[in-house]
Amino acid sequence: MKPRLRFAPSPSGYLHIGGARTALFNWLWARSQGGVFVLRVEDTDQERSSLDSVRAILDAFRWLGIDWDEGPEVGGPHAPYFQSERKAIYREHTERMISSGHAYRCYCTKEELDRQREELKARNPKAQFVYPGTCRNRTDQPDLPHVVRFKSPREGSTDFNDKVFGPITTPNSAQQDFVLVRTDGYPLYNLAATIDDHLMDISLVVRGRDHIGNTPQQVLIYRALGWEAPEFAHLPMMLSPKGEKLSKRHAAVSVDEYKERGYPPAAVLNYIVRFGWSSGDQEIFGLDELVKLFSWDHVNKSDGKFDEKKFADVAFEHLKRPELTSLPTYAKNVQPFLAQRGITSTDPDLLLAAIPGVRERARTYRDAASDLDFYFREPPEVDPKAREKLLSKEAAARMVELASALEGTKPWDAATLEAKARTWCEAQGVAIKDVAQPARVALTGRSASPPLFEVMAVLGEPRSLDRLRRAPALVPG
Ligand code: GLU
Repeated sequence: MKPRLRFAPSPSGYLHIGGARTALFNWLWARSQGGVFVLRVEDTDQERSSLDSVRAILDAFRWLGIDWDEGPEVGGPHAPYFQSERKAIYREHTERMISSGHAYRCYCTKEELDRQREELKARNPKAQFVYPGTCRNRTDQPDLPHVVRFKSPREGSTDFNDKVFGPITTPNSAQQDFVLVRTDGYPLYNLAATIDDHLMDISLVVRGRDHIGNTPQQVLIYRALGWEAPEFAHLPMMLSPKGEKLSKRHAAVSVDEYKERGYPPAAVLNYIVRFGWSSGDQEIFGLDELVKLFSWDHVNKSDGKFDEKKFADVAFEHLKRPELTSLPTYAKNVQPFLAQRGITSTDPDLLLAAIPGVRERARTYRDAASDLDFYFREPPEVDPKAREKLLSKEAAARMVELASALEGTKPWDAATLEAKARTWCEAQGVAIKDVAQPARVALTGRSASPPLFEVMAVLGEPRSLDRLRRAPALVPG
C-alpha cells in the first residue's frame, strides 16, 4: 500500500525551521514511495490561530518546493483539512466514546481542581497532581459546563513500536483521565489528531519526539474507537547550540528569514534534513538526490544542535555548484534581490552571462545581487575609497587609451582581451597591475570583482569601452 503521510501545523505564527524539518521527512517518504502527503491545519486553538499564519506557512512550503497532495487550497477526499471545520466529526466520535464507556463528562470546576492541586502542594511540594477521577462513575448528566475526559485503563500498559525509537511501553497507571474536549466544546490536540489521522487514512505519523509522550494517549483513543493505530516515527530534536529548545532567542528560526537572507531553498532543505538523517559522510545533497536516498534505516535518534554558520556554509555550497543550482534557477532567484536594490529590468542574457563569475564568491542570493549590481547600472555606482586609491588622473587617461587599444577585438572574450591588453601594456612599458586596478574601478566601480577580462567579456564591447572612456570623469576632484 502506498503510504499516506501528513504534516499538521498549528497556525500561530510562521513556519518554524523545526516544523519544516518534520514536514520534509514526511514529504520525502511520500515522494520516494509514490505516496500521498497531506497538510492538515490544526487550528482548534482559536485564540492563537490565524489565517495570515496559514498563508505564511503555505507560502513558506511553496518557496521550499514542498508540495502537498491534499490540504488547504488543493482540497482532497478527506476535506475539510482545517480542524476548526471538523467540530461535528469530533463531537460524533466523542459521543461514541461516552456511550461505549471509554469517556465521560467531568463537571469538576477549575476552581475545585486548583484547590485540590494547592492542597497537594502544601502536603508534598514535589508531588504531581493527578485528576482523582471524581466524575469517572457519575451517572447523571446535568446541563452544566463540563469537559470530556478519557477513562484511562488503570491496569496494563499501552505499547507502540516507534520506527525510530523502537518499542515504547507506558504503564497505564502513569496515565490520568486526560481531557479530550474543553468546556467550550473544542477538542484538544490528542483527540482531534487521532480522529483525523484515522479518518484521513494516515499510515505513518512522523513528528518531533516532543510528541512521543502524547502517543500512548492517542493509542488509547484508537483502541477505544475500535481502530487500528497507524505506525509512528518520532524524530530527534533540533536544539539550540547550548542544547535548549531552539527558539528565536538563539537564532533565526523562521523559514522566511532564510528566504529573506537569500538562501537557496534547496540548501535550507539540505541543512535541516541532517537533523535526524544522514547518508555516510556526504554533507551536500540536491533535492532529487534526497528523494532517492531517503530511507528510515538512516534516521537516527540523536538530537542535533543548530549552527547558523554551518547553515550558511551549506547555502554557499548550493549556490556555488551549477549541478545544484542551475543558471536559470540562480537567475530567477537572484532577481528579487536585484529588485530590492532598484534593479528591476535586467537583460536576461547579461544576467546569465554574469552569474558564473559571481557565484564563486557570493554566499547568498543577497550577496550575489550586490556583486552583480555593477553590470546593470549605467554608470555603475563607484566606491569612493576605490576611486581615491586607484584612479589617479594619469591612470584614468590610460583607460581612455586602453579603450582604443581594445576596440574591435575579435572575438570579444576574456582570453583574447587579456592577451591584447598584455601586449599593449608591454608596448607602453607599464605593468599590467597598474592598468588592471584602475580598469576595475572604471568598469565595476569597485576594487574587488570577478576577474577583469571576464567582466569585460560579459559586459560586451560597447559597455566596456564606454566605461573605460568615462574614467577621467571619475577622478577625485
Ligand atoms: N499541531 C501539532 C504541532 O504543531 C501536530 C503534532 C502532530 O504532528 O501530531 O505540534
